[in-house]
Amino acid sequence: MSDSAETPTTFADLDLRPELLRALTSLGYEEPTPIQRESIAPLIAGRDLLGQAATGTGKTAAFALPMLQRLGSEGGAQTAPRGLVLVPTRELAMQVSEAMHKYGRELGSRVLPVYGGQPIFRQLKALQRGVDIVVATPGRALDHIARGSLSLASLDVVVLDEADEMLDMGFAEDIESILGGVREGHQTVLFSATMPKRIVTLAKRHLTDPVRIELAREEARAGEAPKVRQTAYIVNRSHKPATLTRVLDIEEPTAAIVFCRTRAEVDEVTVTLNGRGYRAESLHGGIDQAQRSKVVERLKSGATELVVATDVAARGLDVDSLTHVVNYDVPAAAEAYVHRIGRVGRAGREGVAITFAQPREHRMLKAIERLTKQKISLEQVPTVADLRARRLELTRAALHESILEDDLAPMRVVVEGLAEEFDLMDVALAAVKLAHDASGSTADEEDIPQPPPPSPRGGKEGRGGPGRDRPGKPGGGKPRRGPDGPTTRLFVGAGRAAHVRPQDLVGAITGESPLRGHEIGTIQIHDRFSLVEVPESSADLVVTALRRTTIKGKKPKIRRENAPS
Ligand code: AMP
Repeated sequence: MSDSAETPTTFADLDLRPELLRALTSLGYEEPTPIQRESIAPLIAGRDLLGQAATGTGKTAAFALPMLQRLGSEGGAQTAPRGLVLVPTRELAMQVSEAMHKYGRELGSRVLPVYGGQPIFRQLKALQRGVDIVVATPGRALDHIARGSLSLASLDVVVLDEADEMLDMGFAEDIESILGGVREGHQTVLFSATMPKRIVTLAKRHLTDPVRIELAREEARAGEAPKVRQTAYIVNRSHKPATLTRVLDIEEPTAAIVFCRTRAEVDEVTVTLNGRGYRAESLHGGIDQAQRSKVVERLKSGATELVVATDVAARGLDVDSLTHVVNYDVPAAAEAYVHRIGRVGRAGREGVAITFAQPREHRMLKAIERLTKQKISLEQVPTVADLRARRLELTRAALHESILEDDLAPMRVVVEGLAEEFDLMDVALAAVKLAHDASGSTADEEDIPQPPPPSPRGGKEGRGGPGRDRPGKPGGGKPRRGPDGPTTRLFVGAGRAAHVRPQDLVGAITGESPLRGHEIGTIQIHDRFSLVEVPESSADLVVTALRRTTIKGKKPKIRRENAPS
């Protein structure tokens, strides 16, 4: 993606309606991400678009804003939807529809998520009442089309989001039959993190003269990316605040900037940190210039050690004492990452950059590694045990210093008195414990759950898909090693007789658990049961998650294949 001078740099430059601009301001978005800068204008103009973009780049707003701009005004009178967004999972359907709802609030846009696992009658009622945009998983969209509750005839815009994921999950036929039923002349938008041949073929068949947007191929010039210790943690959103405080405790930065994407998030993180006993200050475009300058001055003088900032507000910030950059969110473009970490490791000092990525965002980390030609090592979030060890180390260091300072004479009388009654070792232990407890305790802390580590795309051989399920005997298979480690098979007490298809199982698993489509192995559908191969490390999580949901409207028995029923 180019970043040329002519490229518009504000949302206002993109000719978005004032209602949408106000929504973006209230969400705290300061400027469009690269994918938004390039997509929004052509999409508003009605062009088809083929975009390569991963989660974390801001791709949802890139297609949602133009869609709302084009369709939003008609809302109210019309009952049949004019926009359809197809997504691979239930989780993404909810996420996209929530985002559209927020952006389109002032326009009164009616957006409905439609996915398997939710009672269909509720969806039927909402569709009857009238919606402008439906965000659906392909299987459930087809269900509604077959029932006549979702009409393709009125659609003006169709978006395929995460198209590669949808094909990986076996939705190719479903997508083809949906796109085949849409009227001529509608707008089609396809976003995909990767561009394998199947996606290019799909695009050729269904997109007309599309604008093509690709990830930057430009490589960083040698020496451009600073030498900084770079690590990343994979954490779910809800665990980010706890992870941040844990990381700050372990790393003990002299001075740090925590980067967030939006003003709202900067404010939230600052409040969280201050609430947990850290002294943090906010820096974003909504804060007046005089106040911003004061924060920067305090950071420079050492009066402030912790600043939470957006990219825009921290631009040009030049503070030599900074030791740490924490990316609370993965930046929307790899170039922004380079700018952020360029703030540490100056003048030959060691700098540290720590990035929090949600499980779905690991692809962004790969894009950054490609650009910087440097490795970001994925690490485990420090555990309570790590934190305890670190705090004990700090207590030890403090005692060491105190002994060297040699100002302990007034304490001698206390130690001598206690030594008459107790062993000297016990006296020392009690004193250390008191000193340690006074510096803060971890007694009430819990370990932060770690989602399964992201695995590289691949391992598709052995994957089930429609018409690709293989025969096999229950209990006949031994656990084997998949491309990403040992796997195990799960028994699902529903099969062909209950009209279960591989994509139903993939949809249920990816919708309910953190597992991605490509991490699921072979799926065998038999008459009365199915077998699904999953990574051993996630098996229990998947069993628990599946027991909470329905498959084809039923709650079949779910267990490890070899476990007693
Ligand atoms: P996506 O790649 O669409 O999944 O978006 C990733 C995250 O970035 C979401 O939490 C969005 O709310 C956020 N986001 C999208 N566009 C912007 C922007 N221009 N400025 C700040 N945050 C954004």
